Amino acid sequence: MSNKVCVIGAGASGILAAISAKEQGADVFMLERNTKIGKKILATGNGRCNFTNVDATEYNYNHPEFVKSIFEQFGPDHTVKFFENLGIIPKIEDLGKAYPYSEQAASIVEVLLHELKKLGIEIIFEIYVQEIKIQNNKYIIKTQHKEFKADKVILTTGGKALPKSGSDGNGYIIAKKLGHEITEVFPSLVKLNLDYPYLKQMDGVKVKAKAQLIFNEQVVHEESGDVLFTKFGISGPTILQISRFANQLLLENKTIYIKVILINDLKVFELVNRFKNLNDKSIEMALVGLIPNKLIHPLLKEADIFNFNQKTANLSGKDLKKVLDILYDWRFLIVNSKGFDDAQVTAGGIDLAKVDQMTLESKVHKGLFFAGEVLDIDALCGGYNLQWAWSSGYIAGKYAGKKI
Ligand SMILES: Cc1cc2nc3c(=O)[nH]c(=O)nc-3n(C[C@H](O)[C@H](O)[C@H](O)COP(=O)(O)OP(=O)(O)OC[C@H]3O[C@@H](n4cnc5c(N)ncnc54)[C@H](O)[C@@H]3O)c2cc1C
Repeated sequence: MSNKVCVIGAGASGILAAISAKEQGADVFMLERNTKIGKKILATGNGRCNFTNVDATEYNYNHPEFVKSIFEQFGPDHTVKFFENLGIIPKIEDLGKAYPYSEQAASIVEVLLHELKKLGIEIIFEIYVQEIKIQNNKYIIKTQHKEFKADKVILTTGGKALPKSGSDGNGYIIAKKLGHEITEVFPSLVKLNLDYPYLKQMDGVKVKAKAQLIFNEQVVHEESGDVLFTKFGISGPTILQISRFANQLLLENKTIYIKVILINDLKVFELVNRFKNLNDKSIEMALVGLIPNKLIHPLLKEADIFNFNQKTANLSGKDLKKVLDILYDWRFLIVNSKGFDDAQVTAGGIDLAKVDQMTLESKVHKGLFFAGEVLDIDALCGGYNLQWAWSSGYIAGKYAGKKI
């Protein structure tokens, strides 16, 4: 009996799904709307592709239990070995982030393409899957041009992030029509928009700071590192990490703030001494050298000090305290985030309740499998999202590839 497996989408998860289904002996073909495979992979890690994180565990994801059963079968170690066999030596950087030794995302795509060709997997490009139907125990895959038949289907169409790479969220519609529920999807790893009057003046300033997401005066999440102010809001690696938690709270209509702690390694008394020593200078000059120049006027205005030339010595104790307070706690109201066009990842997706956590097969239809970002699994920056795509792709392919 034949086992024809159709993989929809030639991104990270689809490629691994196709390879592992083929390794099981299945007759595999792929349908991809783009003209080439792995378009999004090329954009990852600023073109360097942070392809895994050697320290990744299930706890890096929004649904640890689900991820655990997949990682036990094919986790980061398996992934590193898999890629080593294809010629990719991992270069491990801070916090377990792994990049190809060549530091080129293109290397990853190239070795995968080579492997697909070697295994004789057919890839049909420039074909957009619109719907999947089931007739006489066969899957009918409808595209704009023609229909394809398969015994099994692996849906690896990705989420909605960076739609110009091909993932526009249509996979959710396809899955929904087949009886699957979709949890609320929202952009993650994305810049945040702020409601703040002085952003134009702060545009382009990058600081090393601690950034905290504040809800009800509680710290929801904090990150340290680069914080970048822009004319619409705030960005940088720290903010991208915080964005998932921010967008989740915004969906619940919560009022939330970003607290930026500009001064982390100087004590208050040290700053008080500084201002005392510089007390014959203007308050504006007393801040030069402590924080970037473009932040000085906004900070003083935030402290209700509009005469920037007044001598530090003439500042009231109350005003000086305000300046000090802001240096350690500058609050910005978050209104929303940039959309999917700017996001790296989609949070939410196909509800896991109707997906087998060992095999990634649908509990609604036998022979239908899912992998990658189309599922309701996501993580922060650091190689975790690609790791999920490789792991889930490999496992979905493995079970779909087994003979019925
Ligand atoms: C700018 C950027 C940087 C990133 N950097 C990193 C990083 O360094 N490390 C990391 O771990 N993660 C990173 N990510 C996240 C990571 O790239 C994704 O989580 C991962 O690629 C998802 O893989 P996927 O196979 O599920 O989906 P995708 O890669 O989105 O692939 C889906 C494929 O399906 C095709 N497709 C969709 N619908 C159809 C259809 N109807 N018919 C035919 N084909 C279809 C698409 O064209 C696409 O090729 C980054 C993401 C972005 C946007």
